[in-house]
Amino acid sequence: MEDLKRYIREVPDYPKPGINFYDITTLLKEPQGLRATVDSFGRLFEGRVIDLVIGIESRGFLFGPQLAYQFSAGFIPVRKPGKLPAETVSQVYELEYGTDELEMHRDAVGAGDRVLIVDDVIATGGTAAATAKLVESCGAEVAGFGFVVELTFLDGRARVDGYEVQTLVRY
Ligand code: AMP
Repeated sequence: MEDLKRYIREVPDYPKPGINFYDITTLLKEPQGLRATVDSFGRLFEGRVIDLVIGIESRGFLFGPQLAYQFSAGFIPVRKPGKLPAETVSQVYELEYGTDELEMHRDAVGAGDRVLIVDDVIATGGTAAATAKLVESCGAEVAGFGFVVELTFLDGRARVDGYEVQTLVRY
């Protein structure tokens, strides 16, 4: 799986000094890289019951629908505030400086749904943990998390302790 690394571009000091940005547009562009990514998640979550896949805005949208197709599940977007037209639930979470917020349609998931949450990168895990709270606040169950890239030095897994977390490449 680690050979997926060769498709992921590292951009130093983006979006600000000291941040090493993991750019997955170069992975999406490569037919082999894209196929290997989707197939890998298919294998890692094989046999799990997954009714719905959530993609977190915005790069989770690039993988979520493909995994939903793979698992014969539906797709749900979790978005930044003010983007969804119907009634929403929201969750505020801490950033390094300040807070951020995510929203989901209130009727998007419900009791009995098993939901896989997908994004490109898990860093501190704050975004992932907030999304799990959104799912659970609507009575649904988190089936697991899938991330292409895991930044292990930030220990994001600790924020989603107790859930299945699958990642394809680690730095
Ligand atoms: P976190 O909540 O700290 O786990 O941050 C995860 C979110 O921030 C994901 O939606 C990522 O797309 C984005 N992100 C954080 N750090 C990076 C990074 N070094 N490279 C690319 N995306 C990142």
